Amino acid sequence: MAGTNHYALTPDRQERVDSWGMNRATLSYVYRPTTAEQVVEAFALARSSGKTAALRGTGCSYGDASLNNEGIVIDLTRMNRILDWNPQTGLITVQPGVTIRQLWQYIIEDGWWPPVVSGTMFVTLGGAAGMNIHGKNNFKAGPIGNHITEFEIVTPGGDVKVCSRNENSELFHAAIGGFGMLGVFTRLTVQMKKIYSGQLKVDAFATKSFADIIEKFSERIDGADYLVGWIDCFATGSELGRGQVHQANYLTPEDDPDPAQGLRVANQELPDTLMGIFPKSLMWRILQPFNNNLGMKAVNLAKYTQSATIGNNETVNQSHAQFAFLLDYVPNWKFAYKPGGLVQFQSFVPYDAAEHVFSEQLRLSHKFGIIPYLGVFKRHRPDDFLMTHAVDGFSFALDYPWTESNKDGVRTLAQVMTRIVLDAGGRHYFAKDSLLTACAAQEYLGSEAISKFKALKSKYDPNHILQSDLSRRLFGAFS
Ligand SMILES: Cc1cc2nc3c(=O)[nH]c(=O)nc-3n(C[C@H](O)[C@H](O)[C@H](O)COP(=O)(O)OP(=O)(O)OC[C@H]3O[C@@H](n4cnc5c(N)ncnc54)[C@H](O)[C@@H]3O)c2cc1C
Repeated sequence: MAGTNHYALTPDRQERVDSWGMNRATLSYVYRPTTAEQVVEAFALARSSGKTAALRGTGCSYGDASLNNEGIVIDLTRMNRILDWNPQTGLITVQPGVTIRQLWQYIIEDGWWPPVVSGTMFVTLGGAAGMNIHGKNNFKAGPIGNHITEFEIVTPGGDVKVCSRNENSELFHAAIGGFGMLGVFTRLTVQMKKIYSGQLKVDAFATKSFADIIEKFSERIDGADYLVGWIDCFATGSELGRGQVHQANYLTPEDDPDPAQGLRVANQELPDTLMGIFPKSLMWRILQPFNNNLGMKAVNLAKYTQSATIGNNETVNQSHAQFAFLLDYVPNWKFAYKPGGLVQFQSFVPYDAAEHVFSEQLRLSHKFGIIPYLGVFKRHRPDDFLMTHAVDGFSFALDYPWTESNKDGVRTLAQVMTRIVLDAGGRHYFAKDSLLTACAAQEYLGSEAISKFKALKSKYDPNHILQSDLSRRLFGAFS
């Protein structure tokens, strides 16, 4: 792969690169390779210029995982071709910049769906593998890494390795979830999930507390394909932890005698208007006046009241895309958090400790006067990836507004909440993180996993070229 390097460190390559949560803006030299050879050229440029390089997909990580202030950013979104698709086996091979949106739109007509998807369809497969993303079916399907059968990785040290569970297995289990620190996935093969119908049966019901939602998840888990909870973070006292659960199940031939229509992309798409009236592209402007404690308290109360009355025990059929990508209904909804942006605090807590830890998180938020505007609850299971964020338990993801006046408070609150999570044997997730400290990250990952990861880093990236703002925050220069 050696040859002339077309990349240079020139001012015209400098771009502003933001975190998805808009809580951090950086200036970097950005390169968008279209081939593995150009990835090698970008590494060579980093080496010759003494700069570090971070990898980036569509930049959907909430914090600083794909940022590299004053360094190089290798953006993989132009490597976005589907290389091979076998509708008989459901195995697909893609370049890393292919998005989940591209993926499901390509395969659904053949009766397949991605086995694991995030709440937004705009993430890339490279970014999904880099963080080892989970979906609303984590308790059943595990993370995306469980469905990756093979990948090719180009390392800064000059190796091009094919990895699977049988070949270079150690690198396989470390690079998936390795937050872009060991090399660039240039090709990924992923097993898709066979579906019979384009629709899901979705049950919605209200829950009164964390104890209640945990009990309901446990009752339903064996019979559910997807489960997700929403928590009204403004509720206090005896109503603390109240919310709503959505359970979704695949349809069978008895439920959907004519599946062909539902498997068409046009019949999956999210509507262009909300309630048939508001253009969705303008919705964030309509939401913005409500994006304060009073407005969000009212929005959460209205949602809970609806879910506990007319929406309680409601069953509807929904397309896979409508159920999976709820957060894409309102494009750019995050702009309602402008100018400061938002941060997410997502913790993963073992089953027995979840009720106490998540209740404490909400009590503390109220005590600090910094209340999360959105709370999402999921069930998880452990996996065998080196830098895993999963536990046999639950996660609770809290979105906090990030403003000049509250950010010191949010930082302190996060530290207090993290201590409780770690004492309970819990974990955090780099894809969502902006606030962890190095000590906290190293405590939950454990010295054994970190030593193994550092050894692989020294082997495949001996000059420590791959770094990000997140990696420096949590691991220094990996030395
Ligand atoms: C609205 C919203 C909802 C979300 N819901 C979920 C959810 O339900 N579950 C979940 O798990 N996550 C969720 N996420 C987080 C998101 O799935 C992850 O942050 C994902 O990694 C983003 O992918 P990306 O393509 O944007 O990658 P980026 O954010 O750009 O990068 C993510 C990581 O992957 C690395 N990387 C990128 N490309 C490559 C490559 N080719 N080779 C090696 N490393 C690479 C980067 O260095 C970085 O460390 C959500 C995010 C948003 C904005």
